[in-house]
Amino acid sequence: MSRSTTAIPFRVNTARAVCDASLRQAMDYSTRTFSAKRAEGTAQVPLEEWRERASAIRMQVLDNLADYVDRFSANATRAGAVVHRAKDAQIARDTVAAILKDRGIKMVVKAKSMVTEEIHLNKRLEEIGIEPVETDLGEYIVQIAGETPSHILAPAIHKSRKDIGRLFADKLGIEYTDDPEVLTKVARRVLREKFLAAKAGITGANFAIADTGSLVIFTNEGNGRMVTTLPRLHVAVLSVEKVIPSLADLSTFVRLLPRSASGQILSSYLSVITGTRKQGETTGAREIHIVLVDNGRSEIVKGEFREILKCIRCSACMNVCPVYKVIGGHAYGCTYPGPMGIVLTAVLEGMERAHPLQDATTFCGACVEVCPVKVPLSKLLRRLRERRAEQRLTPLVERLAMFGFGTVTQSPALFGLGQRMSWSVWPLLKDFSRSKLFVRLPRPARKTFKRSMS
Ligand code: SF4
Repeated sequence: MSRSTTAIPFRVNTARAVCDASLRQAMDYSTRTFSAKRAEGTAQVPLEEWRERASAIRMQVLDNLADYVDRFSANATRAGAVVHRAKDAQIARDTVAAILKDRGIKMVVKAKSMVTEEIHLNKRLEEIGIEPVETDLGEYIVQIAGETPSHILAPAIHKSRKDIGRLFADKLGIEYTDDPEVLTKVARRVLREKFLAAKAGITGANFAIADTGSLVIFTNEGNGRMVTTLPRLHVAVLSVEKVIPSLADLSTFVRLLPRSASGQILSSYLSVITGTRKQGETTGAREIHIVLVDNGRSEIVKGEFREILKCIRCSACMNVCPVYKVIGGHAYGCTYPGPMGIVLTAVLEGMERAHPLQDATTFCGACVEVCPVKVPLSKLLRRLRERRAEQRLTPLVERLAMFGFGTVTQSPALFGLGQRMSWSVWPLLKDFSRSKLFVRLPRPARKTFKRSMS
């Protein structure tokens, strides 16, 4: 688990993000579109029944995580894959780097994988002279822009088509255009050459089936298929909680994941990969390595935030979050943004680093309503706030203010006195304080609601 004690500068990041009109416009349009499509895609189905089922399957896995991971590993090995266990991010990075380096790989094509972002795999590969090429269009855009994903499903959600047009003109030397079709064709041409030249491909996995040792990958662009079938070597990097018991259980997630993510009834491509290419088969990698990343999850699953590991990374919670919708993913300063990211970052990276993110919630509960696996995000977020107060990680002024507020509201006499005084004290505060807060506050009523009723 990577731990840093430097707190994420969330307030600074947020101040910058809210001043960026183009970012706000792009976020507003994209998150509204995703949410509308999700609502449409889930309108005519027995959603509650599916959510209950999905939640139960995920809890069953978490209750027996080690057993399911062992079963998956044994069956994947039997199917011809080599399974590696990585206790932390560094071991995971080094394992992938060694597999590629030992085979003389100089360039590798990648399908989108958030866990490779979590372990900072690309940086490690570049350090040893291996070029990682992202092949998901959004991920390719943020890679050539030198950025990180701003959304777990749509990495370039924060960019307008004009931004992308300028980026392609600058980095790929084409004439400026903001026509999405032309830009997509350009990316496809560049990436096709990479697919054909690559000797290795790296993917994540949406699920791993314990009973069969299969990897399950949902994509919409077909790049996942190219990455896993054209090169002779396939390296899959996934976190341990991606395991589900059986192919029968997969049917629940096949219905829920695309609908929750983008409102699609099905993803355009669904690959189920069981081991290496067998005799007589015409596609598939000849060598498969599966790197199972723990990175603290074996401990997280025993703790009070364990239910965050139910998450299937659909992104629905961020698309409805009133904070994420305005500031986008980069302001969070970590791999996983949005409501689920606040919780996951706290347990993966530690409270000292992640506690400022806990300001990024309004407790409106919208995230809980849309989550397809019923992660109790509000409960987990509230518990994190409590932890932050217990660990005295909030600023002193905030602690003093909350102490004062608590003392006054618990005493009817003090509360009444405060109400009576507020009318006369307020102009003084307004005049003497330089804080814009007091200027913006409405003047307290001379007569309280309670008194006017009596
Ligand atoms: S917490 Fe729920 S809604 Fe959010 S990404 Fe995970 S599965 Fe989707």
